[in-house]
Amino acid sequence: MHEILIISGKGGTGKTSLTAAFAHLSERAVLCDLDVDAPDLHLILRPAPTTPTPFVSGSAAHIDAQKCTQCGTCAEMCQFKAVRCNGASYAVDPIRCEGCGVCVHFCPEKAIESVPRQCGHWSVADTRFGPLVHAQLYPGEENSGKLVALLRREAKALAEKTGAGTILSDGPPGIGCPVISALSGISRALIVTEPTPSGLHDLERIVALCEHFRVPVAGLINKCDLNADFAGRIRAFCQGRQMPILAELPHHVDFVHAMVRGQAITEYADGAVAQQLRKAWELLIR
Ligand code: SF4
Ligand code: SF4
Repeated sequence: MHEILIISGKGGTGKTSLTAAFAHLSERAVLCDLDVDAPDLHLILRPAPTTPTPFVSGSAAHIDAQKCTQCGTCAEMCQFKAVRCNGASYAVDPIRCEGCGVCVHFCPEKAIESVPRQCGHWSVADTRFGPLVHAQLYPGEENSGKLVALLRREAKALAEKTGAGTILSDGPPGIGCPVISALSGISRALIVTEPTPSGLHDLERIVALCEHFRVPVAGLINKCDLNADFAGRIRAFCQGRQMPILAELPHHVDFVHAMVRGQAITEYADGAVAQQLRKAWELLIR
């Protein structure tokens, strides 16, 4: 089974637009949006409505007002300033609470308990290109790496059940915990970059990360006509790492028109950009 991950060292390179195009070309791969903090692949793939499954991870403290004698110990002990007193009662701010359990331990009235915490939700839904496994982590919540790992397990189980030969994932941006969780054990990563100073800088960082985890990589330069000097520097960097560049796409208005219509660019127009992407996809799954 091929597990292909589309990533970029930074946001805004066009990673999701390209993932949608590859989803269109893949002929029913299992699709996965691993950018759980800010998913947007669904905006183009428009999955059928489903009932999401809660993502529960970690815990948060909860005070039983009936048992609380308002001694204030929990507010004094909490290093995260998560216990608030409004003058009449004590309550835990779930956004600040780290679930450390100190207040649970020290409450003399046993009025505090740790309760499981719902940090987000995930679903599997049909799209016109194949099933999509996707999720949404709630604002400010942690554990994005765990949610990415969960989605990958679900995608793999679905691919085995349906006999799909490929899992195609839109990865998280950057080089943090969710990216590491998305990278482990995959067949190949396609790194989307753009010819700008930050594009090159972040390409260097993500390539170093992939090398650390021994993930085979290929590159794609998007908006390659933006800056000839930096496009040349990116080519030289990739050549130095023996990293193939599968396509160099121009900054083309068709990307905007396709996005406005909620289409993949390969659906919208079968022009030069689509032709390059067809070739890139063939090279990617080879
Ligand atoms: S430590 Fe327990 S009894 Fe004291 S204020 Fe906190 S919840 Fe109430
Ligand atoms: S569990 Fe920890 S972080 Fe949360 S309110 Fe209690 S002491 Fe503070």
